[in-house]
Amino acid sequence: MSRHAIVVGAGIVGLCAARELRHRGFDLTVVERDPEGHAAASHGNAGIIVPSHFVPLAAPGVVGQALRWMLDPTGPFYVRPRASLALLQWGWRFWRSATAEQVQRAAPLLLQLNLVSRRLYDELVAELGIDVGFTPRGLLMLCRTESGLEEEVATAALARDLGLTAQTLDAAALRALEPDVELDVVGAVHVAEDAHLDPAALMRALRAHLAADGVRFIVGTEVVAVRERGGAVTATLRAADADGTRAPETAPTLRGDALVLAGGSWSVALGRQLGLRLLLQPGKGYALTIERPSQFLRTAAILVEARASATLVGGRFRIGGTMELAGFDPRLAPARIDGIKRSAQRYFPRLARAELDAATTWAGFRPVSPDGLPYLGRTPRHPRVVVATGHAMMGLSLGPVTGRLVAKLIAGEPPGIDLRLLDPARHTSLRRRAVARR
Ligand SMILES: Cc1cc2nc3c(=O)[nH]c(=O)nc-3n(C[C@H](O)[C@H](O)[C@H](O)COP(=O)(O)OP(=O)(O)OC[C@H]3O[C@@H](n4cnc5c(N)ncnc54)[C@H](O)[C@@H]3O)c2cc1C
Repeated sequence: MSRHAIVVGAGIVGLCAARELRHRGFDLTVVERDPEGHAAASHGNAGIIVPSHFVPLAAPGVVGQALRWMLDPTGPFYVRPRASLALLQWGWRFWRSATAEQVQRAAPLLLQLNLVSRRLYDELVAELGIDVGFTPRGLLMLCRTESGLEEEVATAALARDLGLTAQTLDAAALRALEPDVELDVVGAVHVAEDAHLDPAALMRALRAHLAADGVRFIVGTEVVAVRERGGAVTATLRAADADGTRAPETAPTLRGDALVLAGGSWSVALGRQLGLRLLLQPGKGYALTIERPSQFLRTAAILVEARASATLVGGRFRIGGTMELAGFDPRLAPARIDGIKRSAQRYFPRLARAELDAATTWAGFRPVSPDGLPYLGRTPRHPRVVVATGHAMMGLSLGPVTGRLVAKLIAGEPPGIDLRLLDPARHTSLRRRAVARR
């Protein structure tokens, strides 16, 4: 008899987990609250697959830099000051994690996960058999300042030591790679292993592929409670647009042999029910997409000093940026959008302001853990529940490897990668774990 797994969340992590579990013969039900995927981070992101990003977000110097950016309303980083215990706990852990020792511990694991995931993307794209804009042209780290380039060159040396193909390009070499665009930069580093794709096309194709493969989707429905008892997991469902008066106990339930919590930034409440303290902050990121750009790059790029990205997705040019920790506030700050536009024009001087003003805008919430590492593993007291979230700025990149690891854990296969640093209970007090045991 085949086993049934429930996946909470149809973002890239949930869909990749569903695919890998299906490969292992599981019956699958994916429950997704938002039928259009508007809020999920996975649909409108920059689409870059980043083996080059092995340095975690929490790194030495980041806290000071972040505080300086906070003073600039157009800057790429912002924390809305507010009385929030969760934000305080997150900030404390972030500060504690921004050390050279933590980077040394985390970087090799992030690189390993990223390289496996990059390889799995080749398999995934071939299996989908649909054009999702997959472009294995690497990533350019574009620098406008000599000091920015020096830092990138130093990181490139580290990347080469770790086995990546990172090369410094001067303005002439850059022109040879991207002859159709005018750039105002002093140089760049090119990392060959990276790639990019159209995230919305990928999500559409993956979902259709899974549905055709027998995966059942329940959309417009929220999982409001998870219980594990008597050798099974039960998920209590509620229509996402219900007025909240219906008690969860009277709502329909799903029973499964295993459950994957892949709710992105929204995983905290279910995590708490499972006895876990997931220190996640929704890190709002913005994307501006120009429909018919006069200027664009064929290779994905990071605009280093602006902390922004530039990607050609499905023939459109997308500039992404900003990390705003302001809770689940969906509003886009006009000053920050203006900041992104002005940054883009500094790197692409021939990109007209009118093109940027006509761009569509989007914002998504990255699930940001304080130590720059995902939460990935079994919950200590609920072995049938696997948590997979907290991928922050790398969730698209790490989706395939996360899906594979989740499926291996559920199927009882050895993961083949040491997952101890990703333990979902690493920020949970022993007392809370003991309470969850009762
Ligand atoms: C502007 C921007 C640019 C980015 N660029 C890149 C990039 O270039 N490369 C990269 O690797 N990453 C990038 N990211 C990060 C990446 O998008 C995220 O890390 C990734 O999408 C997270 O995927 P997820 O599946 O964990 O979460 P999500 O995509 O947020 O999906 C979670 C889903 O779970 C659902 N859900 C939550 N709780 C429940 C519940 N209780 N019941 C039912 N459904 C529930 C939500 O509705 C949501 O659809 C970017 C992010 C942003 C915002």
